[in-house]
Amino acid sequence: MNAPLTPDSSQWSPTSWTDYQAVQQAQYPDAEALQAVLDQLSHMPPLVTSWEIMALRKQFADAAAGRKFVLQGGDCAESFADCTPDIITNRLKVLLQMSLVLVHGLKKRVVRVGRFAGQYAKPRSSDLETRDGVTLPSYRGDIINAPDFTEAARVPDPQRLLTAHARSAMTLNFVRGLIDGGFADLHHPEYWDLQWVEHAPLAKEYQRRVDAIGDSLRFMETLAEQSISELSRVDFFTSHEALHLPYEQASTRRVPRQPGWYNLCTHMPWIGKRTADLNGAHVEYCRGIQNPVGVKIGPGMDVAWVLGLLERLNPDNIPGKVALIHRMGAEVIASELPPILEAVRDSGRSVLWMCDPMHGNTESVAGGVKTRRFDNIRSELDQAFDLHAAAGTYLGGAHLELTGENVTECMGGARDLTETDLARAYHTTVDPRLNYEQALELAMLIVHKQAS
Ligand code: PEP
Ligand code: MN
Repeated sequence: MNAPLTPDSSQWSPTSWTDYQAVQQAQYPDAEALQAVLDQLSHMPPLVTSWEIMALRKQFADAAAGRKFVLQGGDCAESFADCTPDIITNRLKVLLQMSLVLVHGLKKRVVRVGRFAGQYAKPRSSDLETRDGVTLPSYRGDIINAPDFTEAARVPDPQRLLTAHARSAMTLNFVRGLIDGGFADLHHPEYWDLQWVEHAPLAKEYQRRVDAIGDSLRFMETLAEQSISELSRVDFFTSHEALHLPYEQASTRRVPRQPGWYNLCTHMPWIGKRTADLNGAHVEYCRGIQNPVGVKIGPGMDVAWVLGLLERLNPDNIPGKVALIHRMGAEVIASELPPILEAVRDSGRSVLWMCDPMHGNTESVAGGVKTRRFDNIRSELDQAFDLHAAAGTYLGGAHLELTGENVTECMGGARDLTETDLARAYHTTVDPRLNYEQALELAMLIVHKQAS
């Protein structure tokens, strides 16, 4: 099973990952039923195109070079039940509002990447879950099994792959329709209003920024005597953790007149912290596709590991190909990150640096409820900006778990949610997300930080 560290890239194929150890995979009871579903999937139309993928890679190259900022956000785990117009629209709205704040405050183009239209597979710290003396297989995301704590719900069901693919297509179709129909046009940010935030403490600052952008657009259009659609048009890209490798493989295709292979079920697959082993199947799979690829970098991953990932995933040092998403935790980022920043900087490799201030700051409170404190999330992001500045590197993006709903999953923020608030609207099936207000507040903090 132990593969060489620098295998001949000509030996990569969409199935070469099967020669490596694949951790965090579902154990299907019926291999034939799984294969039949994968065969169906491999003949379905793709969800995204190679042109879009290459456009995102180009935008990542710009962000790596300091010219853009990437906002990546969405649910920890999408659920089939949440594939509804309201939830999709609200998530799109909060991402649009955050990006507007970032564009205005950072004076940079913002690249928007949703954690949606395919974020259905979850890595778990344990294969089993015990409640009240009963032990069952863990929930691994709606693409594999169901969260209900019953034996039947937890059996991996290959039909769920088809449902996940269909819901991803529906989500993406709706997002594309909204955007093409003018919903995301910067001339009409009033379409993005989320009712419940009207009286939020941050509403005034947000409105000021919206008005300022509207004024600038109108001013430029007066000068140009035409509508500046290039400036006011908004793109959206998709991303998900490339965890379920048979599913990813089924969407890995060649396209006419383009070299190489593309993963056509998302623009940007990423490798999670638990599957970032240099000799593991996930790194093997991701090294062969043209898509820009993210990798989570966590505490304990040393310089040799990170440089090894870059060598393996991007041996030709193609700009925009790899985003390193560090997720250290507010307590340890100051000791863990600088050696990595310095080593990558000195290696001369092109990297898009992003900060995920969520996953190093998860904690459990009474009753085992998982939460995150807004102050820790904010502190990690603040420190990340400072540490990059000190190393002479550019922090080119933020990776966040958020929702457009009024949930109470993370504590703190402008309304200072407390432990007792958590019970009120705790809906996530996996990790706690920033609610709409907390997400917008974080975007403003990023901007304030850069202005200070
Ligand atoms: C996630 O992004 O939901 C996740 C599990 O992150 P990580 O791999 O960084 O722990
Ligand atoms: Mn998560």
